Amino acid sequence: MKPVMALVGRPNVGKSTLFNRLTKSRDAIVADFAGLTRDRHYGNAKHGEHEFIVIDTGGFEPTAESGIYKEMAKQTKQAVAEADVVVFVVDARAGLSAQDYDIANYLRKLGKPAVLAANKAEGMQEGPQLAEFYELGFGEINPVSAAHGQGIRSLVDAAFAHLPPPEEDEAAEAQQAGIIKLAVAGRPNVGKSTLINAWLGEERLVAFDLPGTTRDAISVPFERSGQKFELIDTAGLRRKGKVFEAIEKFSVVKTLQAIESANVVLLLLDATQGVTDQDAHIAGYILESGRAVVLAVNKWDAVDEYNRELVRRQIEVRLPFLKFAELHFISAQKRQGLGPLWGSIAQAHKSAMTKMSTPVLTRLLQDAVQFQTPKRSGMFRPKLRYAHQGGMNPPVIVVHGNSLEHVTDAYKRFLEGRFRKEFNLVGTPLRIEMRTSK
Ligand code: GDP
Ligand code: GDP
Repeated sequence: MKPVMALVGRPNVGKSTLFNRLTKSRDAIVADFAGLTRDRHYGNAKHGEHEFIVIDTGGFEPTAESGIYKEMAKQTKQAVAEADVVVFVVDARAGLSAQDYDIANYLRKLGKPAVLAANKAEGMQEGPQLAEFYELGFGEINPVSAAHGQGIRSLVDAAFAHLPPPEEDEAAEAQQAGIIKLAVAGRPNVGKSTLINAWLGEERLVAFDLPGTTRDAISVPFERSGQKFELIDTAGLRRKGKVFEAIEKFSVVKTLQAIESANVVLLLLDATQGVTDQDAHIAGYILESGRAVVLAVNKWDAVDEYNRELVRRQIEVRLPFLKFAELHFISAQKRQGLGPLWGSIAQAHKSAMTKMSTPVLTRLLQDAVQFQTPKRSGMFRPKLRYAHQGGMNPPVIVVHGNSLEHVTDAYKRFLEGRFRKEFNLVGTPLRIEMRTSK
């Protein structure tokens, strides 16, 4: 599971700026998807070898007593409780405030590993100007400038010093064993536990033990029609004996971690509710993580023809960036339409793991360019020379050439369409990166 870092601090110290700075590299990629709704409070970050999930805890008021602030504080506290490490952000220019002490006390009570970041420290002397922050009792002070991108690397390293070293590459192991890691995601009440229990009740589904690995209680390995699966820690659920049940507290963090460690995510929607903001956020996160996706609209039994049409349209309008995913209409309760899900899951996985050789990619690229040359931009005409595969799950195609920063989004979509068709990629995002030779 990816570690989780929570950014905590009073308003205006620069948490969102730091959040943007930490998650920036990913932004460039997802910006290409029209209609993508992101939850600006959760993001993926990668710095050096460190990959983690970042939470920006927005308006953190540990003492808020009522209304929306209380609700926010509750969610923030939950996020902090679930984080592996906290970055406590203070304002180096403003100096210490009473609120900083409140937050410090709160964090200390929690006993979470925490590091202190003194933000807005650009151009400041490390010694005397920052010394007062030692009073908070968080040890070493990490001077950073979120706005100017200074000190970020050391801050991340300091935070990671509090975390256990990453486990052996479990994902690679599972893949070698031919296991598809599957997560069922969706907001509370869409029918996740009903679906999983319907599956686990099937005769065709045989549970087995994964030898030699320690697994938490929620992961369930099983085999179906000769294909091995591992149902991974499915967010918002708890295993109770042989059945799954929903836990009252929905956890965004657990959802994100489940998505991150899956190969394929089955995203469940509720036909009686349509596509909600929360659905769109989860969908956006799946896309950002690059996981393969199958979409299923549950409770199809409970809506009439009119509302069915409404749901279909909402999916087109609100989740246009998931057009590559197969869409199913099911009833978990009545066990209708469940069979075909497996074919889509297997296909999505196969697409996500497709191997593409450099000669084939390069030939396809050159064919595409011949079919339609990229537009000139001012003095520059992008020259696309060759392509190689830069990754799997999601597949990444790296295009090399000159002036590639002038390739338009429309042209990238054209390329994506050609590659998708040639490799029969269904159910997985495909990333195309342009790398200009210097
Ligand atoms: P948040 O309320 O903690 O999320 O704070 P924001 O990220 O919204 O930042 C509050 C203000 O501080 C904004 O005006 C930012 O431009 C500014 N700010 C953030 N980081 C820095 C920094 O590193 N240096 C300086 N000088 N200003 C910063
Ligand atoms: P979870 O929170 O996502 O795990 O959702 P549950 O599986 O607990 O289901 C929430 C509610 O929706 C329960 O009352 C289920 O009985 C109901 N439900 C689940 N699947 C269906 C379905 O296919 N049709 C209908 N009509 N109700 C369903």
